[in-house]
Amino acid sequence: MYRRLYAQCDLDVQITAQSALLVQGTQAPEGAGTFYRARDPTDGRERFCIPATTLKGVWRSAAERILRSFEPWLACDPFEVKKGDSQSCSKRLEGSLAADSPQAYGAMCPVCRLFGSTAHAGLLQLQDAWAMGNPRPEPQTGIAIDRFTGGVKYGALYSYEPLPAGTRFTTHVTVHNVEFWQLGLLALVSREMSQGRVRIGSGTRKGLGHVEVVWTRAEFRYPKELYEQASVGQAGVLVSAQALAVDGDRVNYPDAEPWLLPGLRSQPANDWADALWTSFWVTENDLSRLQIDCVERALAPKLRLGRAGFAYGAPAQTGGG
Ligand SMILES: [Zn+2]
Repeated sequence: MYRRLYAQCDLDVQITAQSALLVQGTQAPEGAGTFYRARDPTDGRERFCIPATTLKGVWRSAAERILRSFEPWLACDPFEVKKGDSQSCSKRLEGSLAADSPQAYGAMCPVCRLFGSTAHAGLLQLQDAWAMGNPRPEPQTGIAIDRFTGGVKYGALYSYEPLPAGTRFTTHVTVHNVEFWQLGLLALVSREMSQGRVRIGSGTRKGLGHVEVVWTRAEFRYPKELYEQASVGQAGVLVSAQALAVDGDRVNYPDAEPWLLPGLRSQPANDWADALWTSFWVTENDLSRLQIDCVERALAPKLRLGRAGFAYGAPAQTGGG
């Protein structure tokens, strides 16, 4: 979409099971009932893992649900091919705009801008979530219900092996060229999951799949030169990619993106490559301020305008700063 990187946000995220949890991954054979395992690339050991694709799917559908509750247009239906308000962005934009161009980005619904479609890769990148420590599955037995009669299938017990409540996973989320309303949306998704309204994995109707999602650290990185031009007189403030975007990458929202959390201290550069970037770490109390500000000052004003809140104007041809 953008031709260069203006702002990157990296989130460290901790996911803690509040109920038993069973994530079988995408390749699970029917009825296997065991938690997905994969080889952790950092140490080559096999570990329990929530695949990034599973997590992304759950986050995406939660984000769709949140936005649709304000206005149906705000999230397309990825499977709807017919023309109409819910037609998928992939179908709607097919062949009409260059893939991954700023125009394609602006023409998509908010969900596709963040999570991607066939016309655009999406700004969000999730890593697999690895289990910490060495959790032990707790085998359980269920009774198979006949789908046709609704009765119990004769002799049909089955077993499954969820991980117990308390199991912790860590993962890492990157948002390239982040805009604050997107972090606001992710904050709301995290809250929906923590409160048990959005669950993950199998057996969610049996009470499985409730997880708490907590951001433990956010790091923002900006190209130093652009950041220093844009933030004159405002030391240690977080800005969105749009605040630094130049030329054809700058697009006109109806409202300006806010600048958040002034007074942060930038991270010292460790080597010559770091020196080209200005970076900030947001932790502890500042993290909840960040989430609240992203919801109240960036997402809410857009939602109040409905469709218009997310509409891009013509690209502004300003030369930076
Ligand atoms: Zn869409």
